[in-house]
Amino acid sequence: MAVQTAPTGDTNSAAGATATTGSAPASVDLGPASALSCRECGQRFPLGPIFACAECFGPLEVAYDLPGGDPEELKKRIAEGPDNIWRYAPLLPVPADVATKPSINPGFTKLVKADNLARELGVTGSLHIKDDSGNPTHSFKDRVVAIAVEAARAFGFTTLSCSSTGNLAGAVGAAAARAGFRSCVFIPHDLEQGKVVMAAVYGGELVGIEGNYDDVNRFCSELIGDPLGEGWGFVNVNLRPYYGEGSKTLAYEICEQLGWRLPDQIVVPIASGSQLTKIDKGLQELIKLGLVEDKPYKIFGAQAKGCSPVSTAFKAGHDVVRPQKPDTIAKSLAIGNPADGPYVLDIARRTGGAVEDVDDEQIVAAIKLLARTEGIFAETAGGVTVGVTKKLIEAGVLDPALTTVVLNTGDGLKTLDAVAETTGPTATIRPDLDAFRTAGLAG
Ligand SMILES: *Cc1c(COP(=O)(O)O)cnc(C)c1O
Ligand SMILES: [Zn+2]
Repeated sequence: MAVQTAPTGDTNSAAGATATTGSAPASVDLGPASALSCRECGQRFPLGPIFACAECFGPLEVAYDLPGGDPEELKKRIAEGPDNIWRYAPLLPVPADVATKPSINPGFTKLVKADNLARELGVTGSLHIKDDSGNPTHSFKDRVVAIAVEAARAFGFTTLSCSSTGNLAGAVGAAAARAGFRSCVFIPHDLEQGKVVMAAVYGGELVGIEGNYDDVNRFCSELIGDPLGEGWGFVNVNLRPYYGEGSKTLAYEICEQLGWRLPDQIVVPIASGSQLTKIDKGLQELIKLGLVEDKPYKIFGAQAKGCSPVSTAFKAGHDVVRPQKPDTIAKSLAIGNPADGPYVLDIARRTGGAVEDVDDEQIVAAIKLLARTEGIFAETAGGVTVGVTKKLIEAGVLDPALTTVVLNTGDGLKTLDAVAETTGPTATIRPDLDAFRTAGLAG
């Protein structure tokens, strides 16, 4: 078991964490994962529950010995795998027999061809919604947690934990229940009821912290550095390098579902920015492995105006992200000090994409637009991506003639409040035909 030395600051900068190495078991089997490497200086470390470089405090990410050989063979092997993220086990930091272990088995969610929405937005190419509300706990977080659970197993942790804006707490609770871990998760005290219930129902410990997400995250950093946190695997802190890799499966699935083709444009929500950076990593890997044609693609980031540190930096041409105090209905994206913000800026600029934001009113309108046109009820994060897509098309930034994939990362049932005030029965009538006729509903 690794003991982290005390982080002195916010993990969002990664600079507060002092990495300890050499305490992980010598023979950690995480499949093709070979080491952790620093995203800033390239220094390598053995696989272990560490997240910041001992040399420069940069964030660590998983490095691989990826399978070589015939891409067609690999595609076949993937196609023969299970209908969940474990079909991509050869590309993930998990043991080869991962599919036989107790897991909530997320992934392989629907890629919906959104022709009605396309018509409404003036898209002449093809528009798709990658609908991750179909995961076991109804958000994309099941993907990242499933990978972190395998790392927690490998490192001998007994308690699973996280700092969460809501969805992650539910995903950890469910995954821990299935995989046989104790769980204790931390959330801001004022979350939506749907998310609180979802996080509590799996029977683990759920702790509301009096503060916002950034306060929760800071608290968790302190706990990791303290003997009180020994034996605890924080999926998005000391297991963050592994956790992040789960988002690559979104890239893999989208390309496989498009017939092993890259989309031209992809619109991704930003909270910490991890998902967006790992989708890019996943697309790059598919190109390197020869599973898709090497051609340009553009990645667009989407934020809520009430928590838009990354889009603000993008528009100002800055390389650094200035923290903000969140105030938005898109609580799952309300991270004011996003750890991967600078990397998101790099990717948006390198690929020719952009980062844009929409206000709460536009988020609600976009939730309703998606529901009305495609029968998909998105949570506020989906309102953010659909709203930003609409805005970017209207601004001529997104090309309507190309293949575009928009992520819906969560389920509208978790954020009912966002639309509850402005939706409801169109009529309430007595149970007789006269009343029905009078209400003018026939036709
Ligand atoms: C966590 C989350 C995201 C993205 O989070 P990142 O920290 O940027 O990886 C997106 N949508 C929903 C619904 C989420 O819960
Ligand atoms: Zn480094």
